[in-house]
Amino acid sequence: MSMDVSVVGSGPNGLAAAVLLVRAGLTVEVHEAADEIGGGTRTASLFDDDVRHDICATGHPMAAASPFFRWFDLAGHGVDLLRPEIAYAHPIDGSRAGLAYEDLDRTCDALGTDGPRWRRLLGPLAEHSRELADLLLGDLRHPPRDPRSAALLPARIALLASGLERRLFTGPEAPALLSGVSAHVMSRQPSLAAAGATLLLGHLAHSTGWPIARGGSQTITDALADDVRAHGGRIHTGSRITDLRALAGSRTVILDIAPRGFLDIARDLLPPRYRKALESYRYGPGAAKVDFLVSEPVPWAVPEVGKAGTVHLGGTRDKVYAAENAVVRGEDPDDRFVLVSDPMAIDPSRGLPGKRPVWAYCHVPHGDPRDATELVRRRIERFAPGFSDTILASRCLTAPQLEAYNANYPGGDVAAGAVDLRQVLGRPVPRWNPHRTPLGGVFLCSAATAPGPGVHGMGGWHAAKSLLGKDFDRVIQEPRGRTRPVS
Ligand SMILES: Cc1cc2nc3c(=O)[nH]c(=O)nc-3n(C[C@H](O)[C@H](O)[C@H](O)COP(=O)(O)OP(=O)(O)OC[C@H]3O[C@@H](n4cnc5c(N)ncnc54)[C@H](O)[C@@H]3O)c2cc1C
Repeated sequence: MSMDVSVVGSGPNGLAAAVLLVRAGLTVEVHEAADEIGGGTRTASLFDDDVRHDICATGHPMAAASPFFRWFDLAGHGVDLLRPEIAYAHPIDGSRAGLAYEDLDRTCDALGTDGPRWRRLLGPLAEHSRELADLLLGDLRHPPRDPRSAALLPARIALLASGLERRLFTGPEAPALLSGVSAHVMSRQPSLAAAGATLLLGHLAHSTGWPIARGGSQTITDALADDVRAHGGRIHTGSRITDLRALAGSRTVILDIAPRGFLDIARDLLPPRYRKALESYRYGPGAAKVDFLVSEPVPWAVPEVGKAGTVHLGGTRDKVYAAENAVVRGEDPDDRFVLVSDPMAIDPSRGLPGKRPVWAYCHVPHGDPRDATELVRRRIERFAPGFSDTILASRCLTAPQLEAYNANYPGGDVAAGAVDLRQVLGRPVPRWNPHRTPLGGVFLCSAATAPGPGVHGMGGWHAAKSLLGKDFDRVIQEPRGRTRPVS
């Protein structure tokens, strides 16, 4: 049957594109290689039917701030984003921890003499959060709609990218907090690209927060998929596209896949120059994901850390940066940076008393095949003595296993491509509109396109906008629930 649009991949970007296009009145079908929809936004029971683990994404600062999800209205679709009192925490040692409360005043109070400097750095951004989220999650091609808020960025980016923030603060907590946020990008530290991401994620902690989804990230996927189906779209699982020509019956194709996957399925269709540019797209370090089933809340040495949605384990800022830079070079640092979430601290629905999920991952050299369970366990134990005694079961997805789980993570690169200045400005290929490809009617929308990794759906938004042209504005202005065919 002929289709208006085939979407390949059902990650948040693919589903966002499908939602927008099906609401434009187009016939849409989604092909997902895996047996489950959702890509990096899936939740599953791993060890016990009563316990739900987020397999990839768990923290949702991007979803909470994203223009796409604002328009889609997650709450209106039954998704409950729970905002922890502390967005993220960063233990320094057994007695001290940096705590980023959603409440900026409380954060500044907790930082003592460094509080006013923290406020000067992030407070103005939090006041202009919506404009900045629109800008930084935008397609990076158009001038900012609000130049005043954009003007807040250059000096702050320069401060973080030059490493001079170290001199701004007197205590270790504030620089450690910033370094933990910066480490999310898995790139060289400090750097311009990491500085931009730090300011985006860092200020969101004090505006729309770093929520987790009640019941798991799958609820976000299901809300999007339900909307696609409710508007007549179809979703096929277990449907891996291995050759673009298999979609010849579709007028247009939207690819929620990384450049490596695009090269594989486009084969000889791509013009040589574009193919070469895609071949030179670089991937960054990998991740090794470890899921634990535990009997007790994580026994953090600093109990307040247990109120945080996300915990960064890496010690001081210099240690975090040293570990991250070593991983980028392909080395094996002693003190690996580890991210941890104990979701039941905020969302009791994830398990039962005595049976709780703990989500963690560490950064590893690209493609590192080693099981990271021991490393992650020891790291958590260091800041939460007694954690090991609570472990009932565990499972590691190594970097190559993450790639097997989702082809968009080559070598375990959960960002679907290195995040550096070149690949932020021209992701995946420097072109005026990177979501358009030289193949007529074929668009890219994955995290390997602007604005990059994260559960925000904005790659899908930009690809759908490129496809729909002026009709896009009509779709997003129309009262939700109604659809009119594109004339
Ligand atoms: C361990 C881990 C932790 C993370 N934590 C967070 C977090 O806390 N917060 C956050 O915002 N982000 C997080 N991320 C990143 C986030 O999950 C991704 O950036 C996001 O899912 C990207 O969405 P996407 O739609 O571009 O692609 P994906 O979600 O990767 O989905 C792509 C889909 O395409 C399918 N596919 C690929 N090739 C084909 C093909 N040829 N045919 C058919 N289907 C195909 C894949 O099976 C997959 O389902 C994390 C990622 C990982 C792996």
